[in-house]
Amino acid sequence: MWLETESGTFLSGVHGGSTFSKFRGAIRLAGMKPIVSIVIPAYNEEDCLAEVHDRLTQVLSKLETAYEILFVDDGSADGTFERIRSISDRDPTVRGLRLSRNFGHQAALTAGLEMARGEAVITMDADLQHPPELLPELIARWREGYEVVYTVRKETSGAGVRKNLTSSLFYWLINSLSPLTIVPGAADFRLLDRKAVEALKRMPEKTRFFRGMIPWIGFKQIEVPFSAPERFAGNTKYSFRKMLRFAAHGILSQSAIPLRMATILGAFVVFVGFLYGLYVVWTFFTKPPGYQQGWASIVLFMLLIGGTQIFFMGIIGEYLARVFEEVKNRPLYLVAEETETDPDS
Ligand code: UDP
Ligand code: MG
Repeated sequence: MWLETESGTFLSGVHGGSTFSKFRGAIRLAGMKPIVSIVIPAYNEEDCLAEVHDRLTQVLSKLETAYEILFVDDGSADGTFERIRSISDRDPTVRGLRLSRNFGHQAALTAGLEMARGEAVITMDADLQHPPELLPELIARWREGYEVVYTVRKETSGAGVRKNLTSSLFYWLINSLSPLTIVPGAADFRLLDRKAVEALKRMPEKTRFFRGMIPWIGFKQIEVPFSAPERFAGNTKYSFRKMLRFAAHGILSQSAIPLRMATILGAFVVFVGFLYGLYVVWTFFTKPPGYQQGWASIVLFMLLIGGTQIFFMGIIGEYLARVFEEVKNRPLYLVAEETETDPDS
């Protein structure tokens, strides 16, 4: 149930007891805890931040919902954190976190989720490719009872043929190689209910890939389509190499199917080898003594089987490297500093 008050709309029923104490509990809660947290990872995004903040504030102030905006500076080399600090000095709803180095988008998102205090947490990019104007719709869906409201990019202006092609190839690969279905175009722009956030916080894996973790956690989910505009300023932080690594990461962190493919292919090779063996034995007994053809087939088999073996050893190595990461159990990110904002202000 929602309570409408002059200072906003608050969720009631957080504290038990009579309606009156529920009401008082909700008001007290509003002072301490924002209802909606917006988490924004930013890596070298100094030119985007003021605009993101303006547009978010415009949208959120109309909603009459208590909120906080959390910027996570993922080890930027430019003035990103200074900008965050100056915005947060002016606006008490803004908090900022600076990671000690560049830990990557998914780690920065994790840092934001862990820091967020809202009953709902919305994650979005800092470059305005995730339009803040969509927030009312996400929040409305959440209020209808959906626990995960995820967005799907239907088109991206300015995305070249290469980005669209690699993106389609990626979703096709990951969906054929993984037991979960990831909706093509799913963006790291979504609203998560507190329950979903807590579920994600219980997943301590180092090889994080939110687009695969979200379908896994379940809960009541709904899709909201959107079309992504071009970046507001700056360049993409995902180079082609980073994107390839991200794609491999997505597949290998979600699925053991590539490992099973080795078993299946191995069984197939044994079967073919057996048939070919029968042919070799038959030739041995039927051809005249001294018959010695087969150089080409031997070399061919050696190359094929040797290549496949090395390829699958590489795949096992990739998994082993991920096991190594998990076993080391290092923290996902380190915080260097935080902006000082009185949480009760
Ligand atoms: N980002 C980050 N750490 C990184 C790379 C990117 O926090 O190492 C942030 C970046 O600032 C942006 C979001 O992740 O807010 C998405 O990055 P980008 O817009 O460059 O990716 P694209 O939209 O081109 O796929
Ligand atoms: Mg972007």
